[in-house]
Amino acid sequence: MLEQQSDHKGIQASSEIFRLSLAKLGQLKLPITSVNYSLLYFYFAGVDLALNEEIDRMIVAPEKWDDLHAQTLFDRYVCHGTCSKTNKNLRDELLSTVANILGMLIDMAGKTALSNGALEKHMESLAHTESPEKVLKIASSIISETRQFVDDTKMFESNLEDTTQEIQSLKLELDDARRQASRDPLTGLANRRGFDQELNKIIEESRENLTTFSFIMIDIDHFKNINDTYGHLVGDKVLIGLSQVLSKQVRGSDELARFGGEEFAIIMPDTLITGAFTVAENLRRSIEKLRLKHSRTGEQIGQVTISIGVACSRPGESAQDLIDRCDRALYRAKSLGRNRTIIAE
Ligand code: GH3
Ligand code: MG
Ligand code: MG
Repeated sequence: MLEQQSDHKGIQASSEIFRLSLAKLGQLKLPITSVNYSLLYFYFAGVDLALNEEIDRMIVAPEKWDDLHAQTLFDRYVCHGTCSKTNKNLRDELLSTVANILGMLIDMAGKTALSNGALEKHMESLAHTESPEKVLKIASSIISETRQFVDDTKMFESNLEDTTQEIQSLKLELDDARRQASRDPLTGLANRRGFDQELNKIIEESRENLTTFSFIMIDIDHFKNINDTYGHLVGDKVLIGLSQVLSKQVRGSDELARFGGEEFAIIMPDTLITGAFTVAENLRRSIEKLRLKHSRTGEQIGQVTISIGVACSRPGESAQDLIDRCDRALYRAKSLGRNRTIIAE
C-alpha cells in the first residue's frame, strides 16, 4: 500500500481541500480535468488571492468557464509560465493525496466499507493510472461510493434506533402488563398471583439466609351478610375500606395481598410469631373499632370484624404446607366464635 503521511493535521487539511475541490467541480458541472481540479485545489488552499478573485468570478458565472480560460489561469497562477513537467508531478501529488484520503476513509467508515473489494479494485487501477484525469475520476468514484456507504450506515443506525425504541416501549408495556397481572384491580393490593411470587421468594431467601418470617391470614366475618343486606357494590366498598386500613398499619417491608374474595394475607419478613401475633391483634382491634356508613345514604353498616390465623415459617416447609397450617388456625378462630387471632400449631 501507499505510504501514509505522518502529519495527521496536514493530511486532514489536504484531504479537505481535495474533497472541496471535487465537490465544487461536481457542483459547477465542470469536466474533471487536471487543470480544473488544480485551479480549484489552489483556490481552496488559498495560495494566491488574485487567483481566488478570478475563480470567484468564474464561480458566479460558470458558463464562462471554458477550457481555454481555465488553461490561461492555470499557466499564470499555478505554473507561473513554466508548466511542462506538470502531468507527472500532478499525478504523483494527486496519487499521494488520494492515498491519504483513502487512509482516512478507511478509518472513518471502518473495514466494512472495504469488504466488497471495490476499494481494492480502485487501488489497483490507481497504481497503473498515468493520467491525472483518470486518477481524479477514480478518486471521485471512491468518494461517492464511500458516501453511499456512510449514508447506508446512517440509515441503518437510524433504523436500529427506531427498533431499539420500539423494543424499549414494548418492554415497558410488558413490565406494565406484568405488574397489572400481579395486582388486584379492586383494592390495588397484590393479588393471589403476586402473593404466591412473594411467598416463594421469601421462602427461598429465608432458606439461604437462615431467617424466619411470619405469615398472617385474615378473613372478614360474615361478609356474605353485608352483600346480602346492602348489595354487592357496598360489599366492594367495604373491601376497599378495609384494605386501606390494613395497608396503613403494615410496615413497608411487609407484603399485604388480597388472598381471595374477602380474605387478605400478610408476609412479614424477619418476624417471629410473637411480633406477628401483636400486629394481627392490632389489626383486628382497629377493624373492630370502625363504624362503617353507607357513603350515599348515610345508613349505618355497623361493625365489621375479622378472624385471623398467624404462623411462623419452619425450615424446609413448603409454601402450601405453611398456608394450610395458617388456614387451619384461621378456621379455629372462626369456630371459636370469630373476631379473634389464633396461632398456628
Ligand atoms: P365467615 O365468617 O365464615 O367467613 O362468613 P362469610 O360470609 O364471610 O364467608 P363466606 O365464604 O360464606 O362468604 C364470603 C362472601 O364474600 C361471599 C362472596 O360473595 C363475597 N365476596 C367475595 N369476593 C367479593 C368481592 O369482590 N366483592 C363483594 N362485594 N363480595 C365478595
Ligand atoms: Mg372466606
Ligand atoms: Mg369470611
